[in-house]
Amino acid sequence: MEASYGFANKFRDQVLRCSSCGFCRAICPLFGLTKRPAFNARGKMLVLREVMDGSIDLNDELIETLFQCTTCAGCAEQCPSGVNVPDIIKQVRKDMVFVGSCHPVFIGMNQILQEHTNIYGESEPEDFERERNRSAQYVYFIGCVGSYREDEPTMATLDLLDHFDVDYTLIDEVCCSGVLDDVGYQINKDLAQKNIDLVLATGAKTVITGCPFCSRTFNNKTQYDRLKKEKVKVIHISQFLKDFDPGVKTDKLVTYHDPCDLGRHCGIYEEPREIIRKIAPNFVEMRHNRANALCCGAGGGVRGAYPKTSIAMARRRLEEVGEIGAEVLLTECNSCVHNLDNAKLRAQKLEFCTTSQFINQLL
Ligand code: SF4
Ligand code: SF4
Repeated sequence: MEASYGFANKFRDQVLRCSSCGFCRAICPLFGLTKRPAFNARGKMLVLREVMDGSIDLNDELIETLFQCTTCAGCAEQCPSGVNVPDIIKQVRKDMVFVGSCHPVFIGMNQILQEHTNIYGESEPEDFERERNRSAQYVYFIGCVGSYREDEPTMATLDLLDHFDVDYTLIDEVCCSGVLDDVGYQINKDLAQKNIDLVLATGAKTVITGCPFCSRTFNNKTQYDRLKKEKVKVIHISQFLKDFDPGVKTDKLVTYHDPCDLGRHCGIYEEPREIIRKIAPNFVEMRHNRANALCCGAGGGVRGAYPKTSIAMARRRLEEVGEIGAEVLLTECNSCVHNLDNAKLRAQKLEFCTTSQFINQLL
């Protein structure tokens, strides 16, 4: 079996470069929660070494180890040997799907996106009482979570864009389908094509996304290259709002959770803080922040496949908010909002929302 798997062809050097130093343990949300060596990057690399040696095959017995990873890239940030674990894991999952071993939840997710235009298989999104598909300077792309599960942060962002007189339009968007690439499949070309056609039809030269994962997908995946060719820029809402001054302030102690997709994956740490500092002079960082921020536990399909584990990881993140006594926790990702909110204990006195929602409340 040696080197017949795609991951072995592409990442053999990286897997062998893992020196088992264990630095990645400090930040891995799965290891932090479970203390199981097989769940952190070091354990996964040891398993993959055995697969490359031909001692074991990629099969169903490895699903638990290789699908329990939020692809948060915390390990890659710590790794002195330059092992890019999320990229390796994503390729391994594709190899597993190829040999017929995949987590059943992801088989279902792939099927849903063959038959529907969103990851929840819902028929009608909230209309948000806004015009769609018209000519405008900007397109605001909401994303599945903001369209079907977290409509309050979306409404708040749209209200804020109206407050600042931004010329934007919504479109009849469909799932960017980036999640398929994380869980063993390929981005759905038809869905990508539909999004691109709808964006181009508006004449907008900038797409503002409410979801950092959609932003990443549009900017980095070849299926969306046509946007670049047509000189359409894609930015996250935090990059857009940093140039505005809402002119309101709070005295409350505020902290910020860096979403993995915005922070480690896109390198956007400063823009969200720039906005928050304008409205919250009492801003305080959590123990793990920026490139070292703890993952909320939602990414890499883990929220869907391992919901209890995902919530438990989110609770660990919320403990850090408690440590600094923050009254308000802000973030910039609807998936983080969804997971951290589900994990919040009733006794925990904490306001928690996106920065746009918070600004709207102050306004
Ligand atoms: S990407 Fe995140 S969850 Fe996956 S092994 Fe690395 S630190 Fe752990
Ligand atoms: S930090 Fe890098 S080299 Fe060290 S154990 Fe983790 S993956 Fe291997």
